[in-house]
Amino acid sequence: MNSCSVVSRRCLAALPFALALPARAQARGARIVTTTAMLADAVRALAGDGLSVTALIGEGVDPHLYRPTRADTQRLLAADLVILNGHRLEGRMEEVLARLARAGRRVLALAEQLPREKLRRHPEIPDAADPHIWMDPLLWAEAAGHLLPALAPWLAVGRGEEGLAAYRARLQRIHAYAEGALGAIPAERRVLVTAHDAFGYFGQRYGLALESIQGISTESEASLARIEQLVALLVERRIPAVFAEASVPDRAVQALIEGAAARGHRVQLGGTLFSDSLGRAGTYTGTVEGMLDHNITTIARALGGTAPAGGLNGRLAA
Ligand SMILES: [Zn+2]
Repeated sequence: MNSCSVVSRRCLAALPFALALPARAQARGARIVTTTAMLADAVRALAGDGLSVTALIGEGVDPHLYRPTRADTQRLLAADLVILNGHRLEGRMEEVLARLARAGRRVLALAEQLPREKLRRHPEIPDAADPHIWMDPLLWAEAAGHLLPALAPWLAVGRGEEGLAAYRARLQRIHAYAEGALGAIPAERRVLVTAHDAFGYFGQRYGLALESIQGISTESEASLARIEQLVALLVERRIPAVFAEASVPDRAVQALIEGAAARGHRVQLGGTLFSDSLGRAGTYTGTVEGMLDHNITTIARALGGTAPAGGLNGRLAA
């Protein structure tokens, strides 16, 4: 019996590449549909302008809660290749994605191609791993390599490898910048307080402790007990700033600031970070490089690290 006849995340990852990919001869513009803009960014970097790439989940939209529209379903059905993040990120799209995979369509769950030992385990999702891999530039650079075999049928020989090398070089530069900017944050302030647990890989890479109001997914409610616990931590450690997220309402983050103020400790809103979405398409922060630059620069400046207001490339709005 085919064990992939049931809806299963492992099968999403395993099934598509059991199928034969088309011969390289198929040079017409392929239609690639990705769930997130981060995935579309990596595909464009490898493929250049030759392929049509559409991300379904737009600016400021939360992928944990996103439900595909009728138009999305049409796009998914018409796609030559569908790329999702996987590891439960697209919790409310799983059914339609699993249906595509079962029907023999090409579906690649990118995060699920990475070796398990490189991924963060999380008690909230015992059968999966932390999906927020785009937060670590080096892990994301590695993940991008797994796009190559999937895109190869539509790319000129060498194009994907060239695009991947240039993409990895940009991510490596961002990583070096992060090490300097975040490395300068004093030891007692190395705590990143955010709305949900999206920064685990980021914190692990750059030595920041993570505290979040909600867990790995935004589906749960923020609990009052958790807010009180975080207020106590902010006051005790004299942490100067907390961060909102572009794809999550900031009510609970405001509650932290007010709670700390009521106990005589002034906490700033350090800025709004991109967690599970990019900035507007066509802008600098609409790319993974720009998104990381924005986050690194914002965090470093709010917690006492060193970073210029314009970021690594001088392209961030002051
Ligand atoms: Zn998330």
